[in-house]
Amino acid sequence: MKYISTRGRMAPIGFQDAVMTGLAPDGGLLLPESLPDVSGRLPAWAGLAYADLAFEVMRLFATDIPADDLRSLVDASYATFAHPEVAPTVPVGDIHVLELFHGPTLAFKDIALQFLGNLFAYILERRGGRLNILGATSGDTGSAAIHGVRGKPNINIFIMHPAGRTSPLQEKQMTSVLDPNVFNLAVDGTFDDCQHIMKTTFADVAFKERHALGAVNSVNWARVLAQTVYYFHSAFRTMERTGARTVQFAVPTGNFGDILAGYLAQRMGLPIRRLILATNENDILSRFFNSGVYGVASVVPTISPSMDIQVASNFERYLYYKVGGNADALVSLMAGFSQEGELCVPLNANGIVDDLFAAGRGDTAATLDTIRRYHAEHGYVLDPHTAVGVLVAERTAGTAVPTICLATAHPAKFTQAIVDAIGEEVHHPVLDALSDAETRCDAIANEVDAVKDYLVEHIR
Ligand SMILES: *Cc1c(COP(=O)(O)O)cnc(C)c1O
Repeated sequence: MKYISTRGRMAPIGFQDAVMTGLAPDGGLLLPESLPDVSGRLPAWAGLAYADLAFEVMRLFATDIPADDLRSLVDASYATFAHPEVAPTVPVGDIHVLELFHGPTLAFKDIALQFLGNLFAYILERRGGRLNILGATSGDTGSAAIHGVRGKPNINIFIMHPAGRTSPLQEKQMTSVLDPNVFNLAVDGTFDDCQHIMKTTFADVAFKERHALGAVNSVNWARVLAQTVYYFHSAFRTMERTGARTVQFAVPTGNFGDILAGYLAQRMGLPIRRLILATNENDILSRFFNSGVYGVASVVPTISPSMDIQVASNFERYLYYKVGGNADALVSLMAGFSQEGELCVPLNANGIVDDLFAAGRGDTAATLDTIRRYHAEHGYVLDPHTAVGVLVAERTAGTAVPTICLATAHPAKFTQAIVDAIGEEVHHPVLDALSDAETRCDAIANEVDAVKDYLVEHIR
């Protein structure tokens, strides 16, 4: 399987190169040259355990990794999950909840980043070389990335967070990782300052190459690939449980990474009737699917912070398929977007962008109410991100097919919102154990040179 750029100005490359490249040199995102049609394999895949299914799906895409090696990578990546099914689907009232939070940091990003960490280590070991990951985080991603590469040979990770502005729990999830290849930097500034330092450092190409700097951004193809697996797994379990022959998924969305994986699974032949895209007040994507206009607005902070985004980094991959794989058409849409902050696609006969997608938004009050209702009626506590997906699913005019709602984080990660909704705290032993854990973190000035000096000094 070869990989191409959505912008069409790159010679096709193999899977391992695609993983190490991240963003394409022409500014586009990588996609497989063609998607395999797996509809004939579905009956054979339906009963597979999670890791076995992950291996079968991924071997179609990671064709330059020997099968035995891929098998070991997959097994190692999902052995760190606390649930025997890795990502179980549980019935709650009228919906089915796909629990994606049984990994080390209790959020769905572990599913991709546990695999990506192992993949980086594997490729570096065979090719030689090293990787120094530099990232900026306001919470979830940094901690899942740290847990993905902790203790891995030939990799160091440096994660900046704004000092005193990350939730104490999320900060502890990062700073309690004591492996010698993990460096937490508390920057005396805001999250935007951290991002500015990161962008400026990456823009110094000579520095970046001399020190083998890399990112673990959400556009890495391996992340999307790893996420397709749970759509298959959950659809199989739910169809078996209900006798239905098709399902729909509700997905709380920020960067369009999670729901893109569902879209690809559908294009590969999984019988998904509909994808319900749910946003919070930061609703650029739900507005797009209902109006055809993709237009930037400013970010407002919400109780589902991992969905507080302005421009969705994975959206370009969807758009590429939407314009029929025409890279020139895509390039001109993206150029218009960067100039005007807006792009438009035509609506179909039903007055929406795509019949496969239903989209809506949930605000803070409705989100808290949904958490309260599910707790009162079903004894089940939704985290604020998951609740946005559930409430948009409830509002979306029903089809008769089962609805699977993706649960992207454990509620114990978002104490304040949960207390506001149900009046009591929810606990998780992994988080409780952090309260007296030893931590390691270095305070650093809000200056590009301070961070560069730190990198040079600490890269082993
Ligand atoms: C990252 C994240 C999301 C959004 O996922 P995207 O791939 O960015 O759409 C939703 N919920 C949680 C808890 C997350 O960490």
